[in-house]
Amino acid sequence: MSLDDLYREVILDHYRSPHNKGQVEGAQVDLEMLNPTCGDEIRLTLGIEEGVVRDVRFVGKGCSISMASASMMTDAIKGRSLPEAERLIEGFRAMMRGEEDREDLGELEALQGVAKFPVRIKCATLAWDTLQKGLAGRNGTH
Ligand code: ZN
Repeated sequence: MSLDDLYREVILDHYRSPHNKGQVEGAQVDLEMLNPTCGDEIRLTLGIEEGVVRDVRFVGKGCSISMASASMMTDAIKGRSLPEAERLIEGFRAMMRGEEDREDLGELEALQGVAKFPVRIKCATLAWDTLQKGLAGRNGTH
């Protein structure tokens, strides 16, 4: 199995069986965003306590890349501190810019091939855009 095939399998697995679906009760972040070029939609909820992402869930519909990216993003940031989450956002953006000199993103590396298809980059970044905007608009709650 080639690396491309492996990455394709990881994306399809997350698309078929997304992780962290649903809504966090009493969420500190609750935000919906769209990617109109593809029709992807996501609603992201986060439970944040003492500067740590205690729980994160999403609901949405869209293409396999947008939903797989959301599923992998929620796995990646759960249990992380807010600065760590911000660093992951930056790392993911660097990967989408095709940068070689960046940190290893683990399972998220499955989406690196998307960087070669500019029209699909917004699909992959939708969940991350929502996360970043949600964290920025938090009004200092803990
Ligand atoms: Zn899409």
